Amino acid sequence: MNCPSCNQIATSFLRNAFSLQGVSILQSTKGYFKCQHCGTLLRITSFGKQFWYFFIGTTIVLAIFTLLYKRLILIVGMGATAAIWVIIVLVLMSIFTFGIWKYAQIEKVDTDPMTKTNQST
Ligand SMILES: [Zn+2]
Repeated sequence: MNCPSCNQIATSFLRNAFSLQGVSILQSTKGYFKCQHCGTLLRITSFGKQFWYFFIGTTIVLAIFTLLYKRLILIVGMGATAAIWVIIVLVLMSIFTFGIWKYAQIEKVDTDPMTKTNQST
């Protein structure tokens, strides 16, 4: 995703995944972040179609696992099933974060909500 203000890549995948990108946690959960180049406050407005395809795919994988896990426990045992579950969750979470980063539609925020947040906290 490119920053609408400076037209450079607004944030890297790692920055998106592991930092708050210059905003508070509350703002971060609402989809706000700051451009890594110019510091413009940006907001995620929606996601591309691909993101929703991925979202549906994730749901299907989880549903299949939920249906099959009892059988899996019988075949590979409890420990291995738990390990597989952890791996599935980790992989899906990373792909999910990637999907959010890759397919987010962003817009420039003109009024800075930062000032309000600072006053209330
Ligand atoms: Zn920028």
